[in-house]
Amino acid sequence: NNTDTNPIEGIRWDDAGLVPAIVQDANSLEVLMMAYMNEESLRLSLESGQTWFWSRSRGELWHKGGTSGNTQAIVSLHYDCDSDTLLVKVNPEGPACHTGETSCFYREIALQRSVAVPAETAQKPALLTDAERFAVLGELERVIAQREVERPEGAYTTYLFEKGVDKILKKVGEEASETIIAAKNKDNAELRLEISDLIYHLLVLLQERKLPLDEIMEELSARHERPRRD
Ligand code: AMP
Ligand code: ZN
Ligand code: ZN
Ligand code: ZN
Repeated sequence: NNTDTNPIEGIRWDDAGLVPAIVQDANSLEVLMMAYMNEESLRLSLESGQTWFWSRSRGELWHKGGTSGNTQAIVSLHYDCDSDTLLVKVNPEGPACHTGETSCFYREIALQRSVAVPAETAQKPALLTDAERFAVLGELERVIAQREVERPEGAYTTYLFEKGVDKILKKVGEEASETIIAAKNKDNAELRLEISDLIYHLLVLLQERKLPLDEIMEELSARHERPRRD
């Protein structure tokens, strides 16, 4: 009944009648999953406002969240320049992945850099995985905790703990101000130093207050799961 105005006529289905659909969180823009749609599942998606796919493994139409409850409300649907890929922006009701992960793309392959690249074309690589990049925070937290117990002479961290919480708070305030000044000066070399100073002093404050960094991470992660709009 709607063949004349069929919005899906332009899609270039593959030989199996399928097209890959990338699903993205409309709010956080995180890429959540990739699955295939056939004409029927695209029609069901457009009509229901929720994602429907074609399950190649089960050989059947698949209403995402039909059993898990983790449905995806469609915000927008785009197709790419050569009409062979869909981009579906959604508000997810829960994790996109059947493993319970928010996104199916939760596993990372670290770069190996085993292939030599001519120096003039070499780009600065992202050398570390996320886990490795942020491990430094955990290490710093441990070192600071150790300093508080052992109080090695001459260590700046020892000095801060000896002076007490007021000194630590004063330093946090100073480093925050210096961060603001560096940012206003558009001086990223300076900003890099000041934010490092600020983070270090915040970690000392956390140790002084016996508030584990884990609780901060949990708080940030909880906000990330349910992004705020403020
Ligand atoms: P659901 O669609 O969330 O009710 O999950 C039903 C079944 O679909 C699961 O048991 C998985 O086999 C499969 N499934 C769900 N989500 C995904 C996904 N993101 N990628 C691949 N398979 C999935
Ligand atoms: Zn394409
Ligand atoms: Zn998955
Ligand atoms: Zn500073």
